[in-house]
Amino acid sequence: MREPELNLSPSPGDTVKHTTCYMCACRCGIKVWLRDGAIRYIQGNPQHPVNRGVLCAKGSAGIMQHYSPARLTKPLLRIGERGSGEFREIEWGEALTLATQWLGEIRARNPNELAFFTGRDQSQALTGWWAQQFGTVNYAAHGGFCSVNMAAAGLYTLGGSFWEFGEPDWEHCRYLMLWGVAEDHDSNPIKLGLGKLKARGAKIVAINPVRTGYGAIADEWIGIRPGTDGLLAFALIHELLRADHIDLDYLVRFTNAHWLVIDAPGAADDGLFARDADGQALCWDRGCGGPVPADAANIQPQVVGEYTLPDGRRARPVFHLVAERYLDPQYTLDAVAERCGVPAATIRRLARELAEQAFEHPVRLAQPWTDAHGRQHAEMLGRPVAFHAMRGISAHSNGFHTCRALHLLQLLLGAVDTPGSFRFQPPYPKPIPPPNRPGRARRADGGLDAAPLGFIHGPDDLLVGADGAPQRIDHAYSWAYPLATHGMLHTVIRNAWAADPYPIDTLFLFMANMSWNSAMNTGETIGWLTDKREDGSYRIPRIIYADAYASEMVAYADLVLPDTTYLERHDCISLLDRPISDADGAADAIRHPVLEPDRDVRGFQSVLLDLGARLKLPGMIDENGAPRYRDFADYMVRHERAPGIGLLAGWRGANGELQGKGPPNPNQLQRYIDNGGFWRAEVPESARYYKMANRDYLAWAQSMGFLGGTDPIVLQLYSETLQKFRLAAQGHGALQPPDHERERLKRYFDPLPIWYPPFEAAAVANEDYPLHAITQRPMFMYHAWGSQNAWLRQIAARNYLYLHPDTAARYGVGDGDFVELRSQHASIIVPVKLAGNVQPDTVWTWNAIGKRRGAWRLAPDAPEGRRGFLLNHLISDRLPQDEHTNADPITGQAAWFDLRVAIRKVDARASYEPQFPSLRLGQADNAPLRYGAAFRDSTP
Ligand code: SF4
Repeated sequence: MREPELNLSPSPGDTVKHTTCYMCACRCGIKVWLRDGAIRYIQGNPQHPVNRGVLCAKGSAGIMQHYSPARLTKPLLRIGERGSGEFREIEWGEALTLATQWLGEIRARNPNELAFFTGRDQSQALTGWWAQQFGTVNYAAHGGFCSVNMAAAGLYTLGGSFWEFGEPDWEHCRYLMLWGVAEDHDSNPIKLGLGKLKARGAKIVAINPVRTGYGAIADEWIGIRPGTDGLLAFALIHELLRADHIDLDYLVRFTNAHWLVIDAPGAADDGLFARDADGQALCWDRGCGGPVPADAANIQPQVVGEYTLPDGRRARPVFHLVAERYLDPQYTLDAVAERCGVPAATIRRLARELAEQAFEHPVRLAQPWTDAHGRQHAEMLGRPVAFHAMRGISAHSNGFHTCRALHLLQLLLGAVDTPGSFRFQPPYPKPIPPPNRPGRARRADGGLDAAPLGFIHGPDDLLVGADGAPQRIDHAYSWAYPLATHGMLHTVIRNAWAADPYPIDTLFLFMANMSWNSAMNTGETIGWLTDKREDGSYRIPRIIYADAYASEMVAYADLVLPDTTYLERHDCISLLDRPISDADGAADAIRHPVLEPDRDVRGFQSVLLDLGARLKLPGMIDENGAPRYRDFADYMVRHERAPGIGLLAGWRGANGELQGKGPPNPNQLQRYIDNGGFWRAEVPESARYYKMANRDYLAWAQSMGFLGGTDPIVLQLYSETLQKFRLAAQGHGALQPPDHERERLKRYFDPLPIWYPPFEAAAVANEDYPLHAITQRPMFMYHAWGSQNAWLRQIAARNYLYLHPDTAARYGVGDGDFVELRSQHASIIVPVKLAGNVQPDTVWTWNAIGKRRGAWRLAPDAPEGRRGFLLNHLISDRLPQDEHTNADPITGQAAWFDLRVAIRKVDARASYEPQFPSLRLGQADNAPLRYGAAFRDSTP
């Protein structure tokens, strides 16, 4: 008798759709299998350029994100007090009419009375444009409390940055330093890359106070003290300079190392570049013995010395200033070792290893290329040393300069966009700084002259009044935070409550859980959201909130617009926003509905366009006043930001024959769907390195619409932009800062990277708050979304405070004991676990696991609400020493990781504090999860 044939590879479903994951910021390609109209299985897409088929725990658990009991089901209108959770379900017609009425009144009166801020969404190319058309300057996404220090430092130094805008050369790198990187952005590409390095025997060094995530597989872990990474970078630079392990040839070719800086203390041009009559920066040419344009071909520039210009002014090359600064004894190994918590011998060895890999094992690729001057080169020479960094170094009040310090170190090693080193991903690099300034002036049609977020080139670009007061509700681009390139979402609620600098009418938030895990000073934030004037009206008059889930923020909204899940709508992962390019190719992607919503919800992007049309915003209606776009899918295809430039770069032109630039193609979305949801264009072979000065790359980038011209991009060791603010603080220039900001500007706007103690540490006595407290991102969760996901909750549903065993012993604390953790701002009581994977003066916990009871429709006794906690309660949104926000003084980046704490063992009967009253956002039934049980009998 024949054995029945076994199907060893049963199909997971009857239909498969290719789209893009949204369980974290990485944007991997996924295949979603459906059976009988239900999601059966999510699989990585092997053809996708981001993840090559790899899928993580979060991505697989997207099924539970889609079927989450926490999903909102209908628009809601508040009928009780804010925070009460008392809402009335309303129809979309009523919701949109109400929102249109509120926003219409604002726009007619003063568009800046709308504060429109978004959280971890991926549609800033739309939301920023919408805010511009509305005419409000008060717009930003979440970057100000995420990693703007890294983005801004990168863009003002390299024209690009780490994060997902650049990557190590995984194919040729021999030595990778991960600075402050936990499991985070770009996670599957990093995992794939680390696998390649491991297979090749490259060394991976993780510099992080906590050894988690990628650090777990590093060859060496440097348990550094939080906030001292910049010092460590300077000590490495000191060692490299001392040993003359510097790539001078690279510096002169690609950076401003040879540019002359005017030395005229007290004068209006002190510290600026010496320039010729055409504004060209000058250098001193050894050949002719005089100044010549620094970008001229066939010159022999001096990089050290002091020179007298024909007009009598004295000037020195940038590199001279660099060497002078970092050879200073304050950066010797012995001077920094104790503060960093890293032995001097270790730092010396790291410097030696960097130099050895960079200079004794250069990578040579037999790939001819032509530089921007037209000179041909037979090969590509590179330094196989790469850095990658993330929020750990960035979320400090010294984070901007720390990120600049890392870039300086990379540049001195000649390790930016060369074979083996850090590489730009198109559309980067951009000119330094990028040319687009923030919008400020109102057009005749009520819109702004430019998008609200942009790049400040000098004091004249600030958004300040004649008295120097901020003009944005978040104080971005003010004298206090001049380069706040991503805005400052973390200041909005306090400032809106305090009417500082002016009252707003409506706070419009999307996907920003600002009453809980996205807020510093959570307790007071809740108070600001609910505070009333004497006449009984709310100080923040109106709050509109859009989200897919019943998050803590929903309870504080007046009007709730329910979003779809990521599997039910169109999304655009655009080159105008945060694309999915890699160093060898430009790429973008879409999401498209895998399922139709079974609830009365709408994709937020389409709702925004609908609102825009109802408000008659420019660009959103046609000549007859009818909506210009049917929905977001239509906008993705037909909207042109500039002639030929749209949200998607693939298959443009009437027949899809063009890429990068070209007229809209009505079939564009289908072409994406047919291609697995993405488009990718290869960078030509000869254009893959030295992108900042590679003729083929610059021409290709211009043809794709990434760059306006083909001028080389000179990497900036020394930032003239920063010096302009210093000069203003010294009294030069027409626009002057208020007196109370002068010292701050003089101190922190140093054109070369500096290190200073994080502000909180400088304000409190070390002996009173001897420990650092930080969070880490679990690799199985992404923000609050993940910690309500039924499958991911099974990995962790509560968190502990992790202490090094030696530290625990010092405080007489054991596993499971409760401790009071006290900052200068507040205290919490939480349980402890001992773990050796942490720098002994640092305590840590997982981020965003703790939830407010009654939120996310979890059961009343859910561990996340009873036994999960946040460090947010301990973190003040203000500095202890003055009225500035707890942030970097240059970019306004929230300084989450500056937190200093004291620890005290408490009574064995202690329980968690603080406890907030339970929210009433509904709860799911507490029945055991049975998802998939019905599939058993239907498997073929
Ligand atoms: S890394 Fe992020 S985007 Fe990729 S599969 Fe995991 S959750 Fe999805």
